Amino acid sequence: MQNTSEIEELVKLISKLPGLGPKSAKRIVLKLINNRDELVKPLAKTLAEVYKNISRCKICGVLKSSAVDCSYDNCRVIKKKYNQICVVENIADQWSIENSNIFQGYFHILGGTISSAGNKKEDLLINSLVVRVKKDKIDEVILATSATVEGQTTAFYIQDSLKDTNVKITKLAQGLPVGGEIENLDDGTLLSAFKNRSKLNSNSD
Ligand SMILES: [Zn+2]
Repeated sequence: MQNTSEIEELVKLISKLPGLGPKSAKRIVLKLINNRDELVKPLAKTLAEVYKNISRCKICGVLKSSAVDCSYDNCRVIKKKYNQICVVENIADQWSIENSNIFQGYFHILGGTISSAGNKKEDLLINSLVVRVKKDKIDEVILATSATVEGQTTAFYIQDSLKDTNVKITKLAQGLPVGGEIENLDDGTLLSAFKNRSKLNSNSD
């Protein structure tokens, strides 16, 4: 092969994606170069647009388009629709819960857990959660962090951060498998974890 450093670079990049190794990355690259106009062109365009326009909201952590303040009025609440905020670790967790149709309310995506990958409390969107709870007069914060040590440590820290508000704080039921990451749970497990969530503080309902 001559002069294929672009191809090698592409294979290297694609194999960094979740679930893909060098072998499947090569298959994908072949498919792409055999479909230049149908795949490569629109993909390059869409990737450039995503890079330019999509970012995480600095307040609530959801993905948003730079053209608008925050997607579906999640944190810039103009007309209050819900009185609950569900707190999750990452966007994949938000998507799992949304897809299961269990929860109707606002989301707050922390961006990790306190001790994972060197994350510090300050790196997570915890201060902005406290601000949202007060500003939007939220009645209940549902902590949907994973059943891992990091997830539970984070939940405890959030509970502590919210102690000066009057909000009711609940946590997903212990039925979650230990080590269970929200994004990997099936809808049934998720549903029962939501239904049987337990109250963590003694604030009024
Ligand atoms: Zn937001």
